[in-house]
Amino acid sequence: MISIYDMEYKELLKKNKLKITPKRMAIINYFLQNNKYFTPYDVWTHLKKKFIKLGLPTIYRNLEEFERIGILTKVEGKENRYYYGICKMKKGKHHHHIICTLCHEIKDFDICDFDKLKEQIEAKTGFEITEHRFFLKGVCKNCKKMEV
Ligand SMILES: [Zn+2]
Ligand SMILES: [Zn+2]
Ligand SMILES: [Zn+2]
Repeated sequence: MISIYDMEYKELLKKNKLKITPKRMAIINYFLQNNKYFTPYDVWTHLKKKFIKLGLPTIYRNLEEFERIGILTKVEGKENRYYYGICKMKKGKHHHHIICTLCHEIKDFDICDFDKLKEQIEAKTGFEITEHRFFLKGVCKNCKKMEV
């Protein structure tokens, strides 16, 4: 399946000097098609059906690399375990992520009002803030409907 996303992600791999391999594309597509966050183990369990010799360390390494170049984002889930989710925002655009704790859906959003907070926090702490991260947890539209 070739989508506009495929092309974008291939470009990103190339730009970061990572070879475009069937395994790498299968990992990216798995995230794209599901739109959820997964543990490396989840990804491995799914992909080893197709790539028999695929090892879990390869998955770990690729997920880390993908996070570094902005294809994936690392998410802290249950019991402080780390998960990964796809990042669909245009690269370089400031944004954050929200995850559904029930179905594990992940979404990007580019609303951020940190600048106002920044001044207040800097005034109070005397620090100069150079970076901020936050990520939100909640219940998505679909899961909210089912809860009623
Ligand atoms: Zn993102
Ligand atoms: Zn949900
Ligand atoms: Zn922000």
